[in-house]
Amino acid sequence: MTDNPEIVIVGAGLSGICAAVNLLKRGIRDFVILEKADGVGGTWRYNTYPGSACDVMSTMYSYSFAPKHDWELMYADQPEIRSYIEGVFDSYGLGRVTRFGTEVMSYTYDDTTDRWQVLLSGGQVLTPRVVIAGIGALHNPNIPKFKGEETFRGDIVHSAQWNPDLDLTGKRVAVVGVGSSAVQIVPAIAGQAEHVHVVQRTPQWVLPKPNRRVSRVEKFLFRVLPFSQKVYRNIAYWTHELAIIAFMHPPLLKAFRLVSLRLLDKQVPDPELRAKLTPDYTIGCKRILLSSDYYPALMRDDVTLLDSGIAEFTETGFRARNGEVVEADVVILATGFATDNRLAEERITGRGGLTIQEAWRDGMRAHLGTTIAGFPNFFLMMGPNSGGGSQSILFVIEAQAHYIAECVRVMRARGARSFEIRAEVEREFNRRLHARLAKSVWNSGGCDSWFLDRTGHNRQAWPGSSVNYWRLTRRPNEKWFHLRSPETVR
Ligand code: NAP
Repeated sequence: MTDNPEIVIVGAGLSGICAAVNLLKRGIRDFVILEKADGVGGTWRYNTYPGSACDVMSTMYSYSFAPKHDWELMYADQPEIRSYIEGVFDSYGLGRVTRFGTEVMSYTYDDTTDRWQVLLSGGQVLTPRVVIAGIGALHNPNIPKFKGEETFRGDIVHSAQWNPDLDLTGKRVAVVGVGSSAVQIVPAIAGQAEHVHVVQRTPQWVLPKPNRRVSRVEKFLFRVLPFSQKVYRNIAYWTHELAIIAFMHPPLLKAFRLVSLRLLDKQVPDPELRAKLTPDYTIGCKRILLSSDYYPALMRDDVTLLDSGIAEFTETGFRARNGEVVEADVVILATGFATDNRLAEERITGRGGLTIQEAWRDGMRAHLGTTIAGFPNFFLMMGPNSGGGSQSILFVIEAQAHYIAECVRVMRARGARSFEIRAEVEREFNRRLHARLAKSVWNSGGCDSWFLDRTGHNRQAWPGSSVNYWRLTRRPNEKWFHLRSPETVR
């Protein structure tokens, strides 16, 4: 492993690994991967809460260049996904170029050398030409502060910071939130805990999750006829792709609404509970939940839905806004992630001393979710408005890793020291993007969600088909960038 690499990849999750593989495919080897944890997996390493699994089909939630023929489940659970990621990491020999337990404390662009100064937790400073930040879009937990919580004698744990030693057996547990994480946790702990209280502030739309074990015949076919697995992958891909038409034209979402209401009718016979679980906003406005066992879990005698937020904690539990008092030993915060400015805590200083906080003071913005004006040679993965809509994030990650590797290739072919998106290109790109998003269900569906920042702008979703995103990320258009070669520098 080189001591002073030309390229630094931050994060050994799905993004960082994909970036590394794309560099290797172009014969680019002078990079290191920095990972603050002591192993690979990123989000699939941290989110170990009970029931943690993926609501995207396994054949789609995997790299196109590393198909796995023996998935156990159609929708894999967290241990299987984590071991898949570890397998890909090993198969490309990335352990040789990865420094675990190494956190980046700050990134500072040096205008005189056109290199980044990357300060590591151990005090060492690397000076790569290029930084690729694969640091995750949903990484920083949203941990609300509740009145009186310091008096609570039980445990409070966020779903993304799960403590494996926390035994819920026979405990009174409250799960705060009813998003994608909560609908996996509740069925997993119902029956183990003495009682589960589900704290719902806003009901969510749920569609069935057609999960099942992958049969031996299917696994055999996937192994001997890889094309058959590609058929599954393509069916899943195009089903998701067609859905984007409805997300961009909300009246078309009525069909999804009917399916969701039918699931609710079928699984929740109690009309009072059904009313509490029925959202009043357009389906798709918040990310649609996929679960076939969440509603049945709510029907159990040892599970209670509390249709109210929390007013304040007490020593033994909390009081809800509707006055109900809940006694609890453990409170699980399934309250999502801080998404307003996901680099808010990072110390990134670009050209001319511009900090990322200053650059994003009016909200997160980038070009194709990867490059940011004022931050030359810095590439983001899963940056603003590049995913989170209806397509598997793996598709977006692969498109971006390809694009970034192409940018690096262009830099090298041109002998460029510095490669920066032009501010006017970024501005125009964002103007058009936000104009398109205005009609989307995320913006107009009448809900609040992690897609919208505090100014009401959607900083997450890509407003259109992933085919279009893929097309735009095939090759960087050199006209979009300032390329500075040694001759043009000062
Ligand atoms: P989320 O979708 O943001 O849901 C957070 C929940 O917590 C909401 O129900 C929210 O209520 C509630 N909440 C937040 N603050 C609260 C407070 N102070 N008091 C009471 N309730 C509060 O979070 P998530 O479930 O962790 O999912 C986030 C994203 O992670 C997902 O959308 C998805 O992209 C990803 N994820 C994916 C999978 C997968 O299977 N692929 C699994 C888990 C997560 P309100 O709605 O009222 O704000």
